[in-house]
Amino acid sequence: MITAERYHDISCGHRVVGHEGKCRFLHGHNYRIHFEIGSENLDEIGRVIDFSVIKEKLCMWLEDNYDHKFLIWEEDPMLSDLAKITADSLVIVPFNPTAENIAKHLVTQIAPIQLQGTNTTLIRCKIEETQKCSATYKL
Ligand SMILES: [Zn+2]
Repeated sequence: MITAERYHDISCGHRVVGHEGKCRFLHGHNYRIHFEIGSENLDEIGRVIDFSVIKEKLCMWLEDNYDHKFLIWEEDPMLSDLAKITADSLVIVPFNPTAENIAKHLVTQIAPIQLQGTNTTLIRCKIEETQKCSATYKL
């Protein structure tokens, strides 16, 4: 397999339900999200995928769906109160929004739809919450 990589930066809020420390509070990160896309075959000019297609299919998905929004788990007890005051800021997700779960969701749920027809697969996604802390989901 051959791979191509691109990253994208977004600002996004979240909180981690059940966290023992300060990550249970409402807060956010300047996330750096790395996409590694794999294919068994190169296209006719020798690419896995054009870098502009990664931008269009995955980076812009982040811009449109997560950037400057607040990720909140559908089972978060704060959801109903937050929805009353700022529903349009919320992105209700089916997982506790840790970096690990965001990475898994992008690889297993979002990329298969976004990369349809490209003959490529998002094989790895790394989510950096800070320069020091990241989580990675790999197929
Ligand atoms: Zn956090």
